[in-house]
Amino acid sequence: MKVKQHGENLTQLTRLWFVNMYFVREEDGLTLIDTGFSGSGKGILETAEKLGQPVRRITLTHAHVDHAGSLDALHQALPEAELVLPARSAEFLAGNMELLPGEAQAPLRGGFITAEARPDRVLQPGDRLGSLLVVAAPGHSPDQVAFFDERDGTLIAGDAFQTLGGFAVSGVIRWRFPFPAQATWDLATSVHSAQALAALKPQRLAVGHGSVLDNPAAVLNAGINEAQEKLHGQAQKA
Ligand SMILES: [Zn+2]
Repeated sequence: MKVKQHGENLTQLTRLWFVNMYFVREEDGLTLIDTGFSGSGKGILETAEKLGQPVRRITLTHAHVDHAGSLDALHQALPEAELVLPARSAEFLAGNMELLPGEAQAPLRGGFITAEARPDRVLQPGDRLGSLLVVAAPGHSPDQVAFFDERDGTLIAGDAFQTLGGFAVSGVIRWRFPFPAQATWDLATSVHSAQALAALKPQRLAVGHGSVLDNPAAVLNAGINEAQEKLHGQAQKA
């Protein structure tokens, strides 16, 4: 597990060179955001030990296998930690994959998994988890949320964006790392979420795949413009 600190409160954990998980430091201990593929639990627990802080909360940005794969293992290893999931991710993990009226009726993509663990609490956009504001970020998947740390403007955006293989809004392909785009459910929803996330004016952007960016405003704008162009191109072809 590669470990990198960003500011006072964010620790980035990277496994298999392309999967990020994050610890957010709170006064009572750590919040884990995303659990990686199955088999990531040991490295996550060892990292918490090195940081010298207990894991108090476990959450996810979305229910894809590279984010939720070690959820059950960690839930079992950390029975005291509160399991707090986005409400929609909890549904997906329980096997209810239905789309809602009003959502893009496009096929789901990417590897969703089910889990045994049931959340102690579910999150809706606008809720808080410690210092983090829960922000809706559907598009890559219908259930995706982002977490905004208002203490220092850090945005943990799941796969709403990627930085590995080149910066992109989810749904715009980067051939050096095409998987997030290939796993994206609906580009129009993704662009809409990207704009809403950029409007938070994050000072730091942490994503599921690739390095953490400080002062991402210009990169975000360029990426959103490109995604809008792609979307308009698709609309014209349709
Ligand atoms: Zn994903």
